[in-house]
Amino acid sequence: MKIKEIIEVLDNLAPPSYQESYDNAGLLTGDSSLECTGIICTLDATEEVLLEAKRKGCNLVVAHHPIIFSGLKKITGKNYVEKAVITAIKNDIAIYAIHTNLDNLLSGVNGRIADKLNLQNRQVLLHKQNNLMKLIVFVPIADAEKVREAIFKAGGGSIGKYTECSFNTTGKSTFTPGEGTNPHTGEAGKREETNEERIEIIFPVYLKEKLLMAMTEAHPYEEVAYDIIALANYFQEVGSGLIGELAEPMETTSFLKLLKQQFHLQVIRHTPLVKKEVKKIALCGGAGSCLIKTALSAGADVFITGDVKYHEFFDCEDRMIVTDIGHWESEQFTVDLLHEVLHSKFPTFAVLKSEVKTNPVNYFTS
Ligand SMILES: [Zn+2]
Repeated sequence: MKIKEIIEVLDNLAPPSYQESYDNAGLLTGDSSLECTGIICTLDATEEVLLEAKRKGCNLVVAHHPIIFSGLKKITGKNYVEKAVITAIKNDIAIYAIHTNLDNLLSGVNGRIADKLNLQNRQVLLHKQNNLMKLIVFVPIADAEKVREAIFKAGGGSIGKYTECSFNTTGKSTFTPGEGTNPHTGEAGKREETNEERIEIIFPVYLKEKLLMAMTEAHPYEEVAYDIIALANYFQEVGSGLIGELAEPMETTSFLKLLKQQFHLQVIRHTPLVKKEVKKIALCGGAGSCLIKTALSAGADVFITGDVKYHEFFDCEDRMIVTDIGHWESEQFTVDLLHEVLHSKFPTFAVLKSEVKTNPVNYFTS
């Protein structure tokens, strides 16, 4: 199996177009046309993880954080990033990063955190804009089902947990075939009237080319009449952060104990416990302090994230509890997610979880 086949699965899981503009997700080193000898999943593709990959005979490291983030001008091995890149290239190891594109999926990094707290009624906290389009295509009635099916197969028509969504009306169309045409019905120079279906199907922007190709291939006309419309609707599954509810309200300190236990924390940094009990929980894996105000206006009792700075803690205005559980700690289960997805897709292939704990932050507690 080629590395690019594995990348295809990861790109389907979290389309690269969902990454933030500052990000650098995707294939960072290596040749994707090579045969894959094994996969290691990790949060950070450090030199130590790359050496582990080499030792275990794996030539693909799937990491959450892109080790090359802001660009490299020299590669001389002077810092940990350059060392990792040199180790990867010397040993023909491909590094693939699946970062904010996985953060921005309801079922991605944040979904895993929500699983650990058994949150219900989950929604994206801050939706990503301009991610949906609508295709409207006009098809002779006899061919409508074939065209609809092709669009569904290419990924169109999904709304939340519903698939194959479309709206269809019938009407009369007219056209006059010009010189040198080969019309499906009618003849050159004579106006043709025919009954057609107008099929309307919603789709995510990144599927546009694939969808259009599938639609035109299935369509019987040589000139297909269609509209593509950009939508202002939110894509329910895509955006940053997550908000959900505990099955039952919990006393605040009991909830913090649960959080500590589920994430194996030594310590939780938090703002004053202004709520006696909590139910509505907002969260964002990694550095999510930019969402504190959004969580507050969404009515969250608690906001869970990592990397909160002193002044940012004040943003909760003593109307919500902000907890900082640590960047690595909040994202630790992302490795399980990557491992599960790849293992279920390639059950007989070597898909490993790195044994290196890459968290550089320690707590001196005694
Ligand atoms: Zn992170």
